[in-house]
Amino acid sequence: MSETVLEVKKLSKYFPIRGGLLRRVVGHVKAVDQVSFSIKQGETFGLVGESGCGKSTTGRTILRLLEPTGGQVLFEGRDIAQLSRRAMRKVRRDLQMVFQDPFASLNPTMTAGELIEEPLRVHGLYTKAERREKVREMMETVGLDSAYLQRYPHEFSGGQRQRIGIARALSLRPKLIIADEPVSALDVSIQSQILNLMEDLQEQFGLTYIFIAHDLSVVKHISDRVGVMYLGRMVEVAPKKELYGHPAHPYTEALLSAVPVPNPRHKRERIVLSGNVPSPANPPAGCAFHPRCPKAFDRCRQERPELIHLGREHYVACHLYGE
Ligand code: SF4
Repeated sequence: MSETVLEVKKLSKYFPIRGGLLRRVVGHVKAVDQVSFSIKQGETFGLVGESGCGKSTTGRTILRLLEPTGGQVLFEGRDIAQLSRRAMRKVRRDLQMVFQDPFASLNPTMTAGELIEEPLRVHGLYTKAERREKVREMMETVGLDSAYLQRYPHEFSGGQRQRIGIARALSLRPKLIIADEPVSALDVSIQSQILNLMEDLQEQFGLTYIFIAHDLSVVKHISDRVGVMYLGRMVEVAPKKELYGHPAHPYTEALLSAVPVPNPRHKRERIVLSGNVPSPANPPAGCAFHPRCPKAFDRCRQERPELIHLGREHYVACHLYGE
């Protein structure tokens, strides 16, 4: 692990809210609000938060599947948020995505072979015969029998479908893969197989991952560093050991208290957060977490905390720290 491969700087994605007869813009949903983090080559960065916190939108905005409202996405030093669609198409070979629900993301009318071949065909790579050979290779790399080339998605199990999704992403030999909840639609017994596969592929192909999940237990095994998001903002970033051992943000503490611990003698007290995540269309003033935070005090209701460095690559956005 050495060079920074991706640097996200103050990335924002706002969706307009329209109202009235003329459907004028009356406000914005700040799905991603000034998010910053960086990832080194070969690293796995876990991105965690409850549903609606903006983690998936962050992933899609980095890949320009959604156009950013503001900020920079520096991939190998080049701001891809500013690239034309044509230039972005070329870069997209290096940046691929694995989706949460392989059944919904795979075209049901295409065979496994056609699905894995499609990215190669779209990018005009290789001859037809070469592509077929690559597809066979790729199927075997992800642990699928190439004899199933002609089968359709519905003929595979959930885990096998996710292997097809991974083979599709991998076929272009990308440098960075954004995996958006890649195991949350799968049975627990299958989840670890897919996680192990992703780790093996990372080693084999020198991949860098952004691994998006809604709870900290899934990313614990696979991540090197973890970023925690709440209501469109990054609230804590730290190396895995540091975050799991010494969480600083009250929201991270609450998420972590729900993670099962293998040793029953080291039982954690469960912190149950009251209320739901507020609407990003109308976030609370000050620290957006304050209506649910058990440690909130006056300043939290007025002033929004910025990420500050606590040392050891540990950053937190909370008024309990700093001055
Ligand atoms: Fe809680 Fe205040 Fe910290 Fe926000 S800034 S997490 S409300 S203590």
